[in-house]
Amino acid sequence: MRYNRVTPEIVERLRRIVGDGYVITSPGDLERYGIDEIEERYRRPPEVVVKPRTPEEIAAIMKLANEYRIPVTPRGAGTGLSGGAVPIHGGIVVSLERMNEILEIDVDNMMVTVEPGVVLADMMRAVEAKGLFYPVDVSTLESCHVGGNVAENAGGARAVKYGVTGHWVYGLEIVTPTGKIVRLGGKRIKDVTGYNLVQLVVGSEGTLGIVTKITFRLTIKPKCVLDLLVPFDTLDNAVAQVNKLFREEHGLAAIEFMDDLSIRAAERYCNTVLPHDDCEAHLLIQVDGMKEGEVWRAAERVYHAVVEGGAKEVFVADNRITREKLWRARRNIAEALKALNNYISVEDIVVPRSRIPEMARRLRELSRAHDIEVPLYGHIGDGNLHPTPVSGDRDEETWVRDLEAFLVDMFKAVRELGGNITAEHGIGFKRVKYLPLALDEVEIELMKAIKRAWDPNGILNPGKAVPLGP
Ligand SMILES: Cc1cc2nc3c(=O)[nH]c(=O)nc-3n(C[C@H](O)[C@H](O)[C@H](O)COP(=O)(O)OP(=O)(O)OC[C@H]3O[C@@H](n4cnc5c(N)ncnc54)[C@H](O)[C@@H]3O)c2cc1C
Repeated sequence: MRYNRVTPEIVERLRRIVGDGYVITSPGDLERYGIDEIEERYRRPPEVVVKPRTPEEIAAIMKLANEYRIPVTPRGAGTGLSGGAVPIHGGIVVSLERMNEILEIDVDNMMVTVEPGVVLADMMRAVEAKGLFYPVDVSTLESCHVGGNVAENAGGARAVKYGVTGHWVYGLEIVTPTGKIVRLGGKRIKDVTGYNLVQLVVGSEGTLGIVTKITFRLTIKPKCVLDLLVPFDTLDNAVAQVNKLFREEHGLAAIEFMDDLSIRAAERYCNTVLPHDDCEAHLLIQVDGMKEGEVWRAAERVYHAVVEGGAKEVFVADNRITREKLWRARRNIAEALKALNNYISVEDIVVPRSRIPEMARRLRELSRAHDIEVPLYGHIGDGNLHPTPVSGDRDEETWVRDLEAFLVDMFKAVRELGGNITAEHGIGFKRVKYLPLALDEVEIELMKAIKRAWDPNGILNPGKAVPLGP
């Protein structure tokens, strides 16, 4: 694909669409919009940033971009870990930050309709104030936008019980790549009228449309939640518990995993101490439900199962302050590792749950073979792990070369075990080159055909999720 540069005339037309104050062209400000949470070396500043307020403004921007063949990159809060919001071809960044209203909380239908720039935790708090519950617990909940969650089909800790973002998305309004505004789905619990375009857009990483409204289904907030922190002397013992727990207990909401390197980094970063940080691994297990007695009984069953499986002790957090302390440590592992190393690469593999012990073993072997330290943590209850190779004191050139070799071997191992290369962080552009390892050739062709049908000029977030070109 060949794209054109943004000219002063185009900037002037953008000013007329969104208003003078909402067009950014100063180099310092453009830099900020040139990166998300991936490694700094991927930073690519856009030529211009616009901050529209309405779908009509976005439609006009898309029409203008098609006229001049300018690439457009949608951007939420920029917490993505695969470079999805990085404007790798320059052009226009459409920041959704001003579209941040909660439009309706429909208590009868148990649905909420929001604009894409609403911060996830703000939406969660607003629906909880009406006695309702949105359960998808993305670790960046205090900063990420719900539009970014939809575009990435974000997961998080409670997917074990409540699924991922897509399970809760019932209606969308989008602006198509050619600048048409369309409503997909709605407040209908069942609807098989036509192809399910709502779920095609979910997880499409901003390549098939810019999401301008979302209707999420809601549920009832569990009345009792308990978190159990369970240290194990050996990593093998910890990972071996996961499948057994699923067979014995149906009240599980989350099972998270942290190895010793991750815990110690998080402790330093959060200035806290977790019990038994001398152990090789911890599980953080959440049980929830509507009746306190039942939840405590579920916790007891978990207790017996893990003690039988070699747990050193079981710490129960039943109040907000202790629970927050545990989750704060867990949520900050990536940041903590970043603070301790020159470079890190947060990975996002998924394997069938039964293959987790083998995957953990393979990771240890790969770590030794490549001489790269690989702290391991993640949403183990979903088979979703975040091995995070760290550079130590390698210089950038050596790191990039060594990391590449490690990643190829890791992705091959993942595929051999029936898994895949990303579970919730997305392909972005960071993983596009590995797609032939991860997907069938026909599948990639079908994805390209969909992209061409929706975006004939290939201008919406090009180079992300699906390879460019014919
Ligand atoms: C420390 C840390 C922990 C994380 N934990 C989790 C986790 O537990 N689970 C998880 O799933 N992810 C996690 N993430 C990744 C990230 O937070 C999620 O992917 C989140 O959904 C991104 O939202 P955002 O608003 O920041 O999107 P951005 O990073 O701004 O954008 C992400 C993608 O969505 C597109 N996009 C954004 N808004 C729109 C829109 N309105 N319409 C169309 N496309 C759009 C962008 O073009 C881009 O491709 C974590 C990230 C970090 C740094």
